[in-house]
Amino acid sequence: MATEIDLLVVGDYLYPMSEGLPVVRDGEVAVRDGRVLYAGPRRELGHWQAARVLGGPGRAIIPGFVNSHCHAASLIFRSLTDEGSVGKALYGLAFRLEGFVSDEEWAELAMLACADMLCAGITTINDIWHHPAGLAEAVARSGLRATVAEKVFDVHLQELHLGDYTRYRDQGEQRLRAAVDFAEAWHGKADGRITARISTHASDTCEAELHKAARAEADRLGLGMHIHAAQAPTEVAQVRAEQGCGPLVYLRDIGYLRDDVVLAHLTFADADDLAAVAETGAGYAHCPTIYPRRGVYPPLWDIKARGIRTGFATDWMMNDPFEGMRNAMHACRTLRGDATELPAAEALWHHTLGAAGALGLADDIGSLEPGKKADLVVLDLDKPHLQPFYGGYPALVFYAKASDVESVVVDGRQVVEQGRPTLFDSAAALGRVKSRVPRWTDLIGSLDAAADPQQGDCGPCH
Ligand SMILES: [Zn+2]
Repeated sequence: MATEIDLLVVGDYLYPMSEGLPVVRDGEVAVRDGRVLYAGPRRELGHWQAARVLGGPGRAIIPGFVNSHCHAASLIFRSLTDEGSVGKALYGLAFRLEGFVSDEEWAELAMLACADMLCAGITTINDIWHHPAGLAEAVARSGLRATVAEKVFDVHLQELHLGDYTRYRDQGEQRLRAAVDFAEAWHGKADGRITARISTHASDTCEAELHKAARAEADRLGLGMHIHAAQAPTEVAQVRAEQGCGPLVYLRDIGYLRDDVVLAHLTFADADDLAAVAETGAGYAHCPTIYPRRGVYPPLWDIKARGIRTGFATDWMMNDPFEGMRNAMHACRTLRGDATELPAAEALWHHTLGAAGALGLADDIGSLEPGKKADLVVLDLDKPHLQPFYGGYPALVFYAKASDVESVVVDGRQVVEQGRPTLFDSAAALGRVKSRVPRWTDLIGSLDAAADPQQGDCGPCH
């Protein structure tokens, strides 16, 4: 008697990312009610009675990528902040441009970003940005899974490039109220695919009282938190001047750091800061594509050796997890002078189960095991750059690209088919963003004309 299932996904290779990380030759994943019923070697013909079948010969199956820290709509900054002084790029341009972008534009960018993420095989994101409701609506439509947070801060970001850290308490309180309103409206929506976090933007862009008030709201609502920490020398210097310690020691001492906090970057964290992270059990989002671009790299090996839960992330603009994994491997091996540093299997783990763990979601996503949510990706291996494909982790992690993603499934539902989103018109989303380029070009021109940005090294990221 065949077992009835909703979906059967088959492939020449299955990378379940389960305990011990075995790769399965001729594997399959059976899905029922949005969850994995079975993941392993192919069963005999007739074992399953599947309503749908995906994949086939020349295909590999992996869990959906988990993106533990990003700003989906930040793709507006593509090519604008990749070159030159970081101080000029971020504090001088990005932070200033953000203030002129409308909610409607953020929503359009978020819709395109959902296409970008899904088509790259990313099935879960953890996002902080302006207008989170716009992203939440795009996530609901697109079929993506997301943790979303409003960006709370009490400075004028557009003035930081002048070294002006004036606190605007009303603004901070208003943004925290908006963050709470967003969380109350959206947490658990889209069949549970959307969850909310409370996010103070960075250790330096909120004063202590605002961080503490945000912590209290997160506790009241039972939500986790998300923050940039030790991302920039400017930030570390500001916190040291105001608090007399590093940013993570500071966040621990005011009661903010706990195991439900996701920390992005830790690039400029010192040993005391990292000890504070390890002591509190906070999760860490490591963004391997942006660091080398800025000429810096956090000591991933040290952070992992301290037992800090670590996941990979795209941060902003470039959302190719394969490129991210390779950037991490190349950077760590070069910096350590050791070709065995960060093996391919470990890199993939950090972008799947490891990232799920950093977000506190490892019981539900990150690997293909019975009972977990059916979030998976089918890759087309019949490509000149992938063959001959011998099936180990290096075959996948060193050679595959986001453009090899053929099908994507979230909660057992197919959201990408033949490399295109199935639930919304991604060409229309692309067209809307393209139509805005002349206005944004004019805006950038007017900022350039008015700019007198600090040329110092403000940091790697955002
Ligand atoms: Zn970021």
